[in-house]
This record gives sequence, structure tokens and C-alpha cells, in this order.
Amino acid sequence: MSELRDVVIIGSGPAGLTAAIYAARANLTPLVFEGLQPGGQLTITTEVENFPGFAHPIEGPELMDAMREQAVRVGTEVRINTIESVDLSQRPFTVKADDGSTVLAKTLIICTGASAKWIGIESEVALQNRGVSACATCDGFFFRGKDVLVVGGGDTAMEEAMYLTRMCNSVTVIHRRDTLRASKVMADRALANPKIRFEWNSAVKEIKDVTLGKVTGVVLESTIDGSTKDLACDGVFVAIGHQPNTGLFKDQLPMDANGYLVTDGVKTIVDGCFAAGDVWDTHYRQAVTAAGMGCQAAIDAIRFIEANEH
Ligand code: NAP
Repeated sequence: MSELRDVVIIGSGPAGLTAAIYAARANLTPLVFEGLQPGGQLTITTEVENFPGFAHPIEGPELMDAMREQAVRVGTEVRINTIESVDLSQRPFTVKADDGSTVLAKTLIICTGASAKWIGIESEVALQNRGVSACATCDGFFFRGKDVLVVGGGDTAMEEAMYLTRMCNSVTVIHRRDTLRASKVMADRALANPKIRFEWNSAVKEIKDVTLGKVTGVVLESTIDGSTKDLACDGVFVAIGHQPNTGLFKDQLPMDANGYLVTDGVKTIVDGCFAAGDVWDTHYRQAVTAAGMGCQAAIDAIRFIEANEH
């Protein structure tokens, strides 16, 4: 017999763990599947300064450890597994984990988030949190008065570049073509910003300096003739898009062209199935907003169970 749970939460970022805290405090003993990146995207950032309640910066992994501990203390069960399949065609939903176990869920809260896309070069991995970042809102503050690069030509890259001009000495956008993908209004705004410089038809071939353990510059490669040149900088912000983690829900829940879930707030089209955080939110993408949505999803799940059982 498969185990039957009131609330199953997939994902353990701020959305998932906040949902767990609320569901646990309603005595529903939620089950959280942590997934491949326990703690979510905050675990690959350094200091977090914009999550309310911390007068002094807290390290991203430390914040997520505290959230997890809080969720467990109030009655959440956390399992390390990743989920291999979900069947939303009937309630209770069937959730299969990578250890072969099956759980039946009266309600499901999807908090699988999104992952930043990376360029795919070795030095980028080695220098993450040492000058390489995928979030200007999170890390820009640490580059006050410094020279930084933003990689990408879409709306996110323009938004990140403009944000960084507020605190950085210079911002150079590296784009692989000679026209921006960004919407006209965002592109015009960035192009008119005197603090933003553009390196067109360029790709980042290497980020230096892995030996020193901090970013000192990049090697740029021309996408036209393959020629290379060095460019000094203190930080590299990669803004080439995000990939939502929604593969499990293909053909079961509606998604937009980029694979994000299409929801009505935290409600999906399937009764009893909710979603919170970056898995559908392409606009705010903040830990605190994800946590807020996790809270909303849990409250809706609690009410759904009450309505169905009484
Ligand atoms: P995006 O629109 O997919 O743009 C990604 C950019 O990164 C493109 O310019 C692309 O180059 C470049 N790129 C992709 N892979 C690359 C690689 N491996 N190496 C170098 N460059 C690479 O993604 P986004 O900017 O994150 O935007 C996602 C969605 O959110 C869009 O619909 C956007 O409009 C929306 N958004 C809106 C706002 C706003 O309105 N305020 C803000 C942020 C995002 P190519 O152009 O050559 O393909």
C-alpha cells in the first residue's frame, strides 16, 4: 500500500519550505522532496541582504538551512529524493520518487523553481560566488564602484545592466549578436544609458582568473571571425535566461512558450494542485516573493483539504 499524505511539496527553496512551515503548523505533516538542489537557488549565492528579518547579511546556504530547520521543527518531513514522475489525472495524486517509492498526495504544491542558464565554460563554474553571478539584485551590492560585465541581450540582461549602473563604476554588456533580443523599451533605455557600454558580436570564451580564485577579466571571442581579446573586469553577471524545472508536468499542466507553468496565482488548473515561486513567476523572482507564494499555496491547500473532508 502506498503511503497517503495530506500535503506533498516538491522543491525545497523558499517557496517549498515556507509552504511546509504553514502546512505543518496546520497539523498536516507535510512531506517535502528536496530535489537535486536542496535549498534551491539561494544555495548558490553568497550574502543575502534583502530577506527581511536579518539586520546583518546572512549567507544564502545558511538562510536555507535555517528555513529547513524551522520547517522540520514545526513538523515537516523532508526527504532527499528527487521525483521521477507525477500523475495529476486523479486524486489523490501519485508521486514517484527516484528510490522507487510511491506517495499518494491529497494536495500537491509544486515549488520546483527555475535554474539560471549558464554559458557552459569551466571557469564560470570555478568562479561562481567569486565574481560570477546570475543575479544582480542579489549580488550587485558587492560590486559597488567596480567594473562589471553582463552577458546576454534579452530583457533580463538589460534590466540587470541598468540595475548595476546604480552601484558599479562601469557596466559592459556582452552580446553574441549585433541586435538585442530585449523589448524595444528596455533596449532603448539601456542603449541610452551613458554608464552602459556594449561589446557586440562577442562571446565570453574564458573568465579569469581561476588561479587567483577571483574574477579579474574575461577573454572575449568574436562571433564573426573568432578573434579574441582580453577585457578587465571585477565581476561577470550571466543573464542569458532561466530554465523552469517543469519537465515533470509536461502534458499535465499548461505552460508558456518558455516552459513556465501558467497558473491563476498559486492555483493550477488541477484542483488540489498548487504552484509557488519561480516555477511560474517570471516577474519578481525573489526569495521573499517565492516565500510569500509558498505561504499562499499552503493556505489554499489547507482550505482545500478542509472543504473536501468536512
Ligand atoms: P531571453 O529573452 O531568452 O534572452 C536571453 C538572451 O541571452 C538572448 O539575448 C540570447 O542571445 C542570450 N543567450 C542565450 N544563450 C546564450 C549563450 N549560451 N551565450 C550567450 N548568450 C546567450 O531571456 P531573458 O532575458 O531572461 O527573458 C526571459 C523572458 O522574461 C522574456 O520573455 C522577457 O521578455 C521576460 N522578461 C521581461 C522583463 C521586463 O519586462 N521587465 C524583465 C526580464 C525578463 P540571442 O538574442 O542571440 O538569442
